[in-house]
Amino acid sequence: MTTVALLGTGIMGAPMARNLLLAGLDVRVWNRSREKASPLGEAGAVVAGSPSQAASGAAVVVTMLSDADATQASMRPPDGALAGLASDAVWAQMGTLGSAGTEACAALAAEHGIAFVDAPVLGTKQPAEQGALTVLASGPDAARETVAPVFDAVGARTLWLGDAGAGTRMKLVANTWVLSLVEALAEAFALAERLDVRPQDFLEAIAGGPLDVGYAKVKGGAMIERDFPPAFPLRLAAKDARLIAEAAEKQALDLPLVRAVAAQLAAGVERGYGEEDLAATFRTAAGS
Ligand code: NAP
Repeated sequence: MTTVALLGTGIMGAPMARNLLLAGLDVRVWNRSREKASPLGEAGAVVAGSPSQAASGAAVVVTMLSDADATQASMRPPDGALAGLASDAVWAQMGTLGSAGTEACAALAAEHGIAFVDAPVLGTKQPAEQGALTVLASGPDAARETVAPVFDAVGARTLWLGDAGAGTRMKLVANTWVLSLVEALAEAFALAERLDVRPQDFLEAIAGGPLDVGYAKVKGGAMIERDFPPAFPLRLAAKDARLIAEAAEKQALDLPLVRAVAAQLAAGVERGYGEEDLAATFRTAAGS
């Protein structure tokens, strides 16, 4: 039985851990705020007091933390997971860290002789609960067999994209699409309200045609209700927009839409909407 240590039991990590348990894996979890990990203890996971304790004896350590700093801190010895990992273990990094953060993690893994798989995911809270994420995997071929039971448990499919770093680059591209789509919807709805067009009627107008997308219904429904329970918190979307803008800048590529989306999401965080769902960017657009 594969033993998996999962670090970070937030919106994404907790349901991923549940699906690892459902798949029959031996699961240890660690979370900075222990109370968020405790319910997983009742579901059959071992709740560890430190990342190194969680990682001791694990074949795979999964990181699903907010950002690169938190991820490296949870891995770096003496308290970090790298202190407890056997030399044949694999680190599967599944949070969204961007290219520089991913390179730093790969270097940290190499320093400790641990195989590193860069595997961010597409999908939000509900797909995580359903074990239906898309895993954007990249890294050494030799690690594939070890991580396969983990990726199969949390995802509906795994795309292997090349050397470590390729998964993160795909994630940046995919999130450029996702964030722009939600911002465009927010602004279309804000304009609709001012022009006395019912947002529901707009959704009806595009329904079933080439302009329709599932995300318009999901995020549009939240905007119509003005109720934004977090599936993809606005603060994390703002972080991702920054990572995308940095990636473009590094390539000397001017992407005005990306810059505008990043500024708008940062403004939403400033206004105090960071803990709400990304769809709350509608509040900023609508001015309410
Ligand atoms: P979340 O609910 O905010 O969870 C974040 C996790 O990071 C929590 O376990 C939190 O611990 C931990 N953390 C934050 N700062 C820390 C620090 N300094 N030291 C140690 N732990 C720290 O976020 P999430 O939605 O699960 O997202 C996790 C990752 O997946 C992020 O990189 C995000 O961008 C990515 N992602 C999210 C989605 C989504 O739709 N939500 C989709 C795809 C990818 P505490 O509980 O103690 O705060």
